[in-house]
Amino acid sequence: MSNIKELDKKYVLPTYARADVEFVSGNNARLLDAEGKKYIDFTSGIGVVSVGHANKRVNSAICEQLSKITHISNLYNIAPQAKAAQKIVEASGFDMQCFFGNSGAEANEGAIKIARKYGERDGEIKRYKIITLQHSFHGRTITTVKATGQESMHNYFGPFPDGFVYADNIDQVESLIDNHTSAVMIELVQGEGGVQPQDKAQVQALAKMLKSKNILLIVDEVQTGVYRTGEFLASNLYEIEPDIITLAKGLGGGVPIGVVMTSLKGVLTAGDHGSTFGGNYLSTAAACEVLDVLKEYSDSGELEKNIDYFNQELEKFYSANRKMFTSKVGIGMMCGLRVKNAETLSAIISNARDEGVMVLKAGKNTLRFLPPLTITREEIDEGFKSLNRAVNSL
Ligand SMILES: *Cc1c(COP(=O)(O)O)cnc(C)c1O
Repeated sequence: MSNIKELDKKYVLPTYARADVEFVSGNNARLLDAEGKKYIDFTSGIGVVSVGHANKRVNSAICEQLSKITHISNLYNIAPQAKAAQKIVEASGFDMQCFFGNSGAEANEGAIKIARKYGERDGEIKRYKIITLQHSFHGRTITTVKATGQESMHNYFGPFPDGFVYADNIDQVESLIDNHTSAVMIELVQGEGGVQPQDKAQVQALAKMLKSKNILLIVDEVQTGVYRTGEFLASNLYEIEPDIITLAKGLGGGVPIGVVMTSLKGVLTAGDHGSTFGGNYLSTAAACEVLDVLKEYSDSGELEKNIDYFNQELEKFYSANRKMFTSKVGIGMMCGLRVKNAETLSAIISNARDEGVMVLKAGKNTLRFLPPLTITREEIDEGFKSLNRAVNSL
């Protein structure tokens, strides 16, 4: 362990404030570290390991694919890519097509490129501006970090691409639209910004207003997508039909993958966009199995029951600790508790780790929960027991 820490310190760029723990294996929502200590994982690797750690079905799908072929480039047909696209589109209920990349930021880059090209060819004035929201998070590339409505992330890295405009909230969006506006990009539940769900009626009104002005609606579902909110997409839950949707985190069960899907099928043509790794056999074989596992889980009613149970236990924890928390927020398995005193947040998280439960921070004052969707009742119970110990010892 200390050896790994030294290697990390010497050879890895220090872009992360890492906690001093090294996990070596997992099973569903259980984790084991290098010292033999056990944990319950209420983070699923920031919403990634949606099907749990070491999921047997996903692992064997990956192993089977590995034994045949993992990569041959997008110059040829890729069977699991086509199948994954079909599964995603059918689950969404939208008449769309997919492009595969490797991360959330890349998916959003694709969305922005579609919006820019659409704005270029549609009419005489080049429409290139994209309105995003304050406290949003859209990624870490030069373009997606600029799309992110958090000023503090814009230090050092300019000059940035032009055309990103920030609205304080959905209500303010319309007043920021001008002749150059091509699209509006939002998260339906802001994740990194602090587990902040948007109001359904407001979102529906926004979607209607944008349609009437021929401005695209991009929904960044990198965190909310793939059943995190209970529905396949948060867009399904909010009953809207965006023009462009992006997915990533929970889609590959831990294998890097990102998707931009759109009803604007004719905008990008051969040569406009591409990716060396995107959509290869390995990542899309994993995604196909993740999608099957979660579809069965959702269709059987188990997902909904699990969401109810997790939220019921979170509510109990919240009620027992009103001294520390001001509100419970979130939708489905994307939940948070607002802490009264932001300074206590990192102490809660590190105490929780000591007590054997992993939780996350979001925004300035939100304790965030993104458990594997397949977490069991026993794991939920154990996790909250540990979390109670963690806050009681504060
Ligand atoms: C995590 C996240 C991203 C960035 O995804 P990466 O895979 O880290 O590039 C973008 N948008 C949202 C909403 C996210 O939660």
